[in-house]
Amino acid sequence: AEGKCDVVVGPRSAVFAPVRHLGLVVIDEEHDASYKQSDANPRYHARDVALERSRLSSASLILGSATPSLESYLSAQHGVYRLATLPSRIGGRPLPRVEIVDMRNERGVHAGTAIGARLCDAIADRLLKKEQAIMLLNRRGFSNYLQCRTCGHVIRCQRCSVSLTYHRTGPALRCHYCGLSERPPDECPECHGTFVGGRGTGTQAVEDELGELFPRARVLRFDADTTRRKGAHRDHLERFGRGEADILLGTQMIAKGLDFPRVTLVGVVSADTALNLPDFRAAERTFQLLAQVAGRTGRSELGGEVIIQSYAPDHYAVDAVRGHRYAEFVQQELRARQELDYPPFSRMALLRFRAPDEERVSKACEAVAETLAGIIGGQDRSDISILGPAPAPIARLRGAHRWHIIVKGKDIDHVRSVVREARKRSDGFRVRGVRVAIDIDPIEVL
Ligand SMILES: [Zn+2]
Ligand SMILES: [Zn+2]
Repeated sequence: AEGKCDVVVGPRSAVFAPVRHLGLVVIDEEHDASYKQSDANPRYHARDVALERSRLSSASLILGSATPSLESYLSAQHGVYRLATLPSRIGGRPLPRVEIVDMRNERGVHAGTAIGARLCDAIADRLLKKEQAIMLLNRRGFSNYLQCRTCGHVIRCQRCSVSLTYHRTGPALRCHYCGLSERPPDECPECHGTFVGGRGTGTQAVEDELGELFPRARVLRFDADTTRRKGAHRDHLERFGRGEADILLGTQMIAKGLDFPRVTLVGVVSADTALNLPDFRAAERTFQLLAQVAGRTGRSELGGEVIIQSYAPDHYAVDAVRGHRYAEFVQQELRARQELDYPPFSRMALLRFRAPDEERVSKACEAVAETLAGIIGGQDRSDISILGPAPAPIARLRGAHRWHIIVKGKDIDHVRSVVREARKRSDGFRVRGVRVAIDIDPIEVL
């Protein structure tokens, strides 16, 4: 505030830094979900704050990303932002070759194994050459979806297009957006094949599998469990950098910004856990993650190769990673979002309810949904729709049951006013022990 510094660098909260004579704001990796503060008030997106701040002080705003968010890309197409493209990679190195392995008919894959023959051969080759490999696993495999073992088909909600979550009790398939619940089919509606419950394999299990396949390889596991100790994060990466391990196995924590010249292979154990998250941004997140992790190899003259295992190799979010076809992916994804009226073609308010007692949560949530429906009907707000009430995809978190309602509309002011009105009228906001959080433009609906 005293004007003693010329440049302020920091995480998302740095956007509030009391800088005098602000001339330029740069947001690197602007697509990153962590720019949104979702878990506490004030719930803000650093990009929106930066946009407003730079507007108020007539400063320039630069958003940087190899895989821009759909919101930013659409704004650029509409001329709100100006799109600038870097035609070549830093250092002029070519992007690595990406190969997608179709797990539906891959050798060496049976119940309980995560690594197919192609990936296995590639790892063996690197070990022989004394080069290094990174294996990526998606940590967020908490939700159980049903996937056809033969054709890769995943059961999705007809209305919301997000994947349905499989619950053993019932058994039932449930949509965590609109609340739809149905009996799981006995066979695949596409090909009559049999279903398998899909769920991310844990890093521990893959570490064991690697140990069996390559008893002499040194595997470094990098996940929330092994990096809990302070400084362990950096420690692990430095050890890998010094060549003390052959394979770095980790969650998406390893996808960002790492630069190890001896890494010539990146293997994505399963692209599908991200793709089948019950979230309308699942495809976007998948593409971003895969594109980002692909950039972790081929950073020296040794070259690099990326192998992605998937049961849905033809899905555009997976396929577009081959050849690094961002623009093509975005066009397809924008079409899909437009069809279903999801952001960036609409705006959302997420009303999240949580309490230790499930009955109270569901009752409160249902009461609010009813009030909302009444307001929308009464004011003839046909431009606004409600999804839910439904249990959140992460139905229990830290001892609390979670339910939610999504309010969606073209105009965020209309959405806000409907929610505000409901807050005045509905007792659902005042049930003892139930906490309600309202998140405008949620970055995740989990
Ligand atoms: Zn099938
Ligand atoms: Zn639904």
